[in-house]
Amino acid sequence: MAFRAEYLWIDGTEPTAEIRSKTKILADGDEPGIWGYDGSSTNQATGDNSDVVLQPVRVVPDPIRGGDDIIVMCETALTRDLSPHPTNTRAAAREALETYADQKPLFGLEQEYTMLDVKTGWPAGFPEGGFPGPQGPYYCGVGALKIHGREVVEEHTTLCIEAGLKISGTNAEVMPGQWEFQIGPADTLEVADHLWIARYLLYRVGEKHDIEISLAAKPMKGDWNGAGMHTNFSTEAMRNEWDAIIAACDAMGEAGVPERHLAGYGIGIEDRLTGEHETQRFDQFSYGVSDRGASIRIPWQVEQDKKGYIEDRRPNANADPYVVTALLTNTICGALA
Ligand code: ADP
Ligand code: MN
Ligand code: MN
Ligand code: MN
Repeated sequence: MAFRAEYLWIDGTEPTAEIRSKTKILADGDEPGIWGYDGSSTNQATGDNSDVVLQPVRVVPDPIRGGDDIIVMCETALTRDLSPHPTNTRAAAREALETYADQKPLFGLEQEYTMLDVKTGWPAGFPEGGFPGPQGPYYCGVGALKIHGREVVEEHTTLCIEAGLKISGTNAEVMPGQWEFQIGPADTLEVADHLWIARYLLYRVGEKHDIEISLAAKPMKGDWNGAGMHTNFSTEAMRNEWDAIIAACDAMGEAGVPERHLAGYGIGIEDRLTGEHETQRFDQFSYGVSDRGASIRIPWQVEQDKKGYIEDRRPNANADPYVVTALLTNTICGALA
């Protein structure tokens, strides 16, 4: 019987790229091959030369449709010579992993997000035109006055598991209507592919519940937490020795490196990295054990064990995971090589 393949790709929307998708019907036994789309409608081409090529790079079962249906994650390429499209950020992540695969880099991405009520445009749990009580009871909270949107979270988690994504946990966040899921540990490319697919599944669940998922870094001004994409990272050496943990932190603080990383960590980074709400200021770099006010946190358990991983707390929720994982792989593996 024929089946459906949902092709996913990253568009050229400024300043934050988004996921796009369309459906292809395949005949029984067909492989999902190269396809294309109208790049003039995604800020990736002009109308007179509009075709952009889709190259399948990872296939998972489609847990929304079930049966034989699949999700096909793609890279975008130019028709001219099939080289990566300029907006194809996965290509650089692929190169970074090819260069440093011997160091066995692993990531865990903590994707925070905010659920917006499509009728009010306000975060779930915020009364229309008003504000809920101050932050405190919501993080990992339980109960109808504290928690909003849990059914979306549960449906999304089930879909991620059924798609075979490396989802490792979920939690309610500090601001009402804000949640998190984690993907990892997985390598430079797999973690970012899985994160983009997980974002797609989350948006789809949101459609069903009239909830728009926002990855805005600071959706509510004032005394409300922003949304990040904390990036946990290790190499084989870091998983074995303390010296490599410290060398990795030092490499991240070298002259010019923090600025270069922040440029790839998403839009609105100055609004979120204020030095308040569990962040370090965007114009300062620091690392420390258990320090949620540092740029990079060394988890308590890692200091106990004298090995493990580090957490870069700076990437925004709206960051492109391909850009973030390529930066960390190149900077830290380059220094440890
Ligand atoms: P936090 O305490 O900051 O909220 P989380 O539990 O939300 O941390 O996320 C930690 C993430 O780090 C998880 O996705 C986990 O799989 C990942 N992780 C665990 N060990 C490693 C490792 N050695 N290298 C990279 N990532 C790791
Ligand atoms: Mn977390
Ligand atoms: Mn969090
Ligand atoms: Mn964290």
